Amino acid sequence: MSALDALPPLREVVKRYDLAPKKSLGQNFLFDLNLTGRIARAAGPLAGVTIIEVGPGPGGLTRALLAEGARKVVAIERDERCLAALADVAAACPGRLHVEAGDALETDYAALARAHAGDGPVRIVANLPYNVGTPLLTGWIEGEAWPPFWDKMVLMFQREVAERIVATPRERADYGRLGVLCGWRTQARILFDVPAAAFTPPPKVTSAIVEVAPRLSPEPCALDSLSRVTQAAFGQRRKMLRQSLKSLGVDPLPLLAAAGLPETARAEEIDVAGFVRLANAFRAA
Ligand code: SAM
Repeated sequence: MSALDALPPLREVVKRYDLAPKKSLGQNFLFDLNLTGRIARAAGPLAGVTIIEVGPGPGGLTRALLAEGARKVVAIERDERCLAALADVAAACPGRLHVEAGDALETDYAALARAHAGDGPVRIVANLPYNVGTPLLTGWIEGEAWPPFWDKMVLMFQREVAERIVATPRERADYGRLGVLCGWRTQARILFDVPAAAFTPPPKVTSAIVEVAPRLSPEPCALDSLSRVTQAAFGQRRKMLRQSLKSLGVDPLPLLAAAGLPETARAEEIDVAGFVRLANAFRAA
């Protein structure tokens, strides 16, 4: 039996360190080893791979990633109550778990990856706190350097957010700015659902595991132009683009013509390539 297997069950850890889940920190813990193992395997194979994990909490997913053979896990946790439990995990696998006590929204991930992985592969794997999941995801996709420092992400989101990440124009209700950004630079897919009952305490909604892989050569496009165009277009998603794009402060008709899009099109009908052409036309205007 490995030292990791000899660690006490997670429920016991939560009791020992008095880790009553806090709603304000999005604490919905996973204790089911089959599930944490499945998530870790979805990120694998992990030999030689450095994992960045946001919000390890009492360490369930962290243990699974280490047990699956990750070279090292670098975990960022804001709740200081969890640090003692994580120190026990670190002691069970010397040199393979580094815990950063701090706010995931304030973390310089590229620097962290360089410091801990050197030139080796880096993956981001996390059961994300629901209130910061989307800003973290967009931060990882909006980095200046591309291809990014990570070669894959395996992330838990509320199912509704997962659907927005993978949405295409054919699924209009969910398709929006997040889908365009993710579709431009990445290929994302939902791997499997995780029912609310799998968490302690159970959240109100179903969750889903999403795999995100970077496109190595996305269509050239300036991020700020794409962001402004999608904000204008989806800000008034029921209107035709010839109307909604007026908020950009330029005449929309030549933009639409340059992008090869019909004047009567609405945001939810335009695919990612169309938005990229529109952003490039806006930048050139
Ligand atoms: N990984 C654990 C699991 O699967 O059981 C816990 C996941 S729980 C959904 C989210 C974790 O993120 C909690 O441990 C919480 O304390 C932590 N967290 C919340 N906001 C954070 C932030 N801004 N920065 C770092 N960690 C945060």
